[in-house]
Amino acid sequence: MSNSTSFTLDDHIYTTLNCMNCGETLIGRRDKKFCDDHCRSLYHNVTNAAQYNLVRKTHTILRKNRRVLWQAIGVFRDQNTIPIHWLTQRGFSFQHCTQRIDQKEDSPVIVCYDIAYQYQGHSVVQIFFWTTDSRAA
Ligand SMILES: [Zn+2]
Repeated sequence: MSNSTSFTLDDHIYTTLNCMNCGETLIGRRDKKFCDDHCRSLYHNVTNAAQYNLVRKTHTILRKNRRVLWQAIGVFRDQNTIPIHWLTQRGFSFQHCTQRIDQKEDSPVIVCYDIAYQYQGHSVVQIFFWTTDSRAA
């Protein structure tokens, strides 16, 4: 490029960004994000699908957790506490819950829809039914 060449970068027609879908360098308005409508809709479809999958996976885990807790209530009917390993053996995920209520002087109440549990030491939990009224009790 010689020194005599002069052109200005027009904010409106110049971009150094790449298409968010296919990665092609974009030519056109600075706020352009996609090559064309095809790339735009592909990108949004994939993004929506990923979000849908995340929500669906989380729901599946929570439903499974609830099922395991229900089983536990049946199996350990006469006992107050349930061994944590019994839950983990059945694929219970301690990372998923619908609510966690911190207590001042007790371990937090961890809720899975309508069943809640509380750690009683390191190896057992206490399970109990949970309703929206439970919090006041
Ligand atoms: Zn593209």
